[in-house]
Amino acid sequence: MMTEPTTAPADKDFLPGPVLLLGAPGVGKGTQAKALMAAYGIPQISTGDILRANIANGSELGRSAKALMDQGQLVPDDLVNQMVWHKILDENLYRGFILDGYPRTLAQADYIDSAINEDPKSPVRMPLVAISIVVDYEQLLHRITGRRICPLGHIFNIYSNPSMAPGICDVDGSVLVQRPDDSEAVFTERMKTFESQTAPVIEHYRKQGRFEEIDGDQPVEQVTGAIEAALKRLRTSKR
Ligand code: AMP
Repeated sequence: MMTEPTTAPADKDFLPGPVLLLGAPGVGKGTQAKALMAAYGIPQISTGDILRANIANGSELGRSAKALMDQGQLVPDDLVNQMVWHKILDENLYRGFILDGYPRTLAQADYIDSAINEDPKSPVRMPLVAISIVVDYEQLLHRITGRRICPLGHIFNIYSNPSMAPGICDVDGSVLVQRPDDSEAVFTERMKTFESQTAPVIEHYRKQGRFEEIDGDQPVEQVTGAIEAALKRLRTSKR
């Protein structure tokens, strides 16, 4: 889903351009993407959210994606690539955007790198920068199995960030649910998928430069501050 900023950006003079947020399931990509969206007034494009919205509205894409997602496997590259590039072409994204959960395979990375550089309709005028958030395995397991979400996307955690009334969203009062792929069994599969398919994507962007790694095992605001500092370095360096 493409989530638009709803308030005036805190730092409207800084142009972040296209930003990739990379990392294992549960490192906090979604939370950090929302913080960056508020800081810079650029939208978040979350492939997981777009796919879940397609499942909720019963589209053909949603029907083909559901079984794979429920088992912790990836949706085919072609489907995800088209979905992301259409979003980028459809909107006026010259100030930038945050890709959350994409690319997740080397084929997706090749696709987006070429589309940005070679598609004559590409609205992207700045090179991609990549931020990889790192958190250790035990911590991720806790974060994922404790995560509870409301239908509007507000995120809680029964261990680290519980809602005031158990099972009820503090913001809008709706019932909190566990994502079907947040069970321990599916988490294990998602981590295997991450190691075999997505870890090479992180190495691809590390080698290219315009890349920074952030310790995600700190309070949310400190992680956001570290990402913002990294983005400023990446956009001002000559790499
Ligand atoms: P997320 O919300 O980012 O954790 O994604 C949830 C699930 O959606 C993943 O486990 C995959 O099944 C699917 N998915 C999300 N993004 C992608 C992607 N870039 N490529 C393939 N599958 C994806």
